[in-house]
Amino acid sequence: MKKKDLDNFKVLLLDEKRKIMRHLEELSSSAENDLEMTSGDSVDIASLEINQASLQKIGKREKYLLKKIDLGLKKIADGTFGECESCGEEIGVPRLTARPVAQLCIDCKTEQENQERRYSSREEKDEDDGVYEEGEEY
Ligand SMILES: [Zn+2]
Repeated sequence: MKKKDLDNFKVLLLDEKRKIMRHLEELSSSAENDLEMTSGDSVDIASLEINQASLQKIGKREKYLLKKIDLGLKKIADGTFGECESCGEEIGVPRLTARPVAQLCIDCKTEQENQERRYSSREEKDEDDGVYEEGEEY
């Protein structure tokens, strides 16, 4: 990969990281505000608990993404950024532009998804078709 492309992805990843950090801060400070506003008022406690549950969920997702971003930045530093972790081929700039944290090329990703689909349809026969966790990336 060209150095210019690497620089672009570094900026992209750092920018994304900054956005997530800011968002996580906003989330935790808004949770504190909720707590102050509802103290002494038992009516809103239930909705507050729901808020905190979804907050944790969002927070977990974003922390997961942060790890991926750090991994990407590390790869830029050691020169392996943009290589597929499965087959070693270049992931490709267009795919990385859409998804800078991608760790697999589109072929390996498709293959992985097919395997997950086969696996989950074997394990969960009652599951509706088309309902699959977008787990691996994001
Ligand atoms: Zn691959």
